[in-house]
Amino acid sequence: MDLSRYMKTSTILFTRGILVDPGTGTYGQRDVLVCDGLVRAIAPSLAPFQEWKRAEEPLRIYDLQGRHLLPGLVDVHTHLRVPGQEHKETLESGTRAAAAGGFTSVLTMPNTKPALDRPAIVRDLKQRIGREAVVRVYPVGAVTRGQKGRSLAPLEALDRAGAVAFSDDGVSIMNASLMREAMQRALRLGRPIVSHCEDERLARGGVVQEGAVAEQLGVKGIPHAAEDVMTARDLTLAWDTQARLHLAHVSTAKSIEMVRRAKDRGIHVTAEVTPHHLVLNEKAVLEVGSNAKVNPPLRTEQDQQALQAGLQDGTVDAVASDHAPHHPDEKALPLAEAPFGVIGLETTLPVVLSLVHQGVIGLKRAVELLTTGPATAMGLDSGTLQAGRRADLVVVALEHPFRVDVRSFRSKARNCPFDGRLLKGRALLTMVGGEVVHEDREALQGRITMH
Ligand SMILES: [Zn+2]
Repeated sequence: MDLSRYMKTSTILFTRGILVDPGTGTYGQRDVLVCDGLVRAIAPSLAPFQEWKRAEEPLRIYDLQGRHLLPGLVDVHTHLRVPGQEHKETLESGTRAAAAGGFTSVLTMPNTKPALDRPAIVRDLKQRIGREAVVRVYPVGAVTRGQKGRSLAPLEALDRAGAVAFSDDGVSIMNASLMREAMQRALRLGRPIVSHCEDERLARGGVVQEGAVAEQLGVKGIPHAAEDVMTARDLTLAWDTQARLHLAHVSTAKSIEMVRRAKDRGIHVTAEVTPHHLVLNEKAVLEVGSNAKVNPPLRTEQDQQALQAGLQDGTVDAVASDHAPHHPDEKALPLAEAPFGVIGLETTLPVVLSLVHQGVIGLKRAVELLTTGPATAMGLDSGTLQAGRRADLVVVALEHPFRVDVRSFRSKARNCPFDGRLLKGRALLTMVGGEVVHEDREALQGRITMH
């Protein structure tokens, strides 16, 4: 194959793929034609496609032979660590990890150094994104100055600079009056507030979930109530203000139940859960140590089941990675001193698919939780494939078994609780705006032709 022709063409046809798009209610075999970065046509069959073929340009065809074609995945919760903590992750490594995991849009949290609390910092980050990122990256602005919880950041100016939501993620905003004012101002801007629900005093000094495992390890536990009292407070404030509230990493049965009731009441709340809280519980830390130390902590088996029930009945809107890279030296510290957080961009899709393979949720629901669910929660124009819209998509081999190997990760970090685990289903090709940003050439071998 002439590689220069292959690289240059911007006309690409995906044929015989199974398209799953909850945004348009499509489920079935479709051909998808991409031209100049946009989806040009979607139909059960685009053969003969000659009318779109341009004389001056070759057409690249991917024959998917029953592989699945999904809208590019959307992750509303990542920590790309830029600016200031590039020893943990960079825009280049973090977005390559996203692409390898099937994500075409990610939100990056503002707990950076400095925090994303001033418009100049957001503007500078956006310029760096333009130069270094291979997927779309949307900055989340800080709610309070320096994320210190004492005074509000200039939310209106951050909005103008490009922040798509506001959060002090990493810490809770303990001052209810500040949180209320933040909600009122975010509401006027049409932006959601993303809340990290954790009562500072109830959680203080805690390392893992309160209970038998904490006792066995001889470390302080974090009670369920640390999360639940703040969930209750923020739902009350959202009820009061009518603001859009998005709850990050919901991890307890009680918080899921509160979100369920709040939605019944018409409160504007959306909720995300993480892959690790869905498939692991407090016992994981006994096996993998600090690579299972996260905030909120991995909870009990009953919590895990409640989160899965939340996926099933629509209480949960999105699965988000909470990708939290740390340097291996930091995670090598003793459990009590190691930082909280695990990476997830390269394992979220297969972990969610493991719930499909186990019959916990159907494929359509799984795709919804990774595309339209998160996109709608954050008001993003993505997560669906339609003619005339930008060509952000992912090709997935649903049944493809592989062993997770952190050494193969694009992320700079290695703090993954699933290392060594056998999973099924991964991204073979990821496309952002018509450009292939990740491709498993080996798996696609024999399926790519030029015309
Ligand atoms: Zn958080």
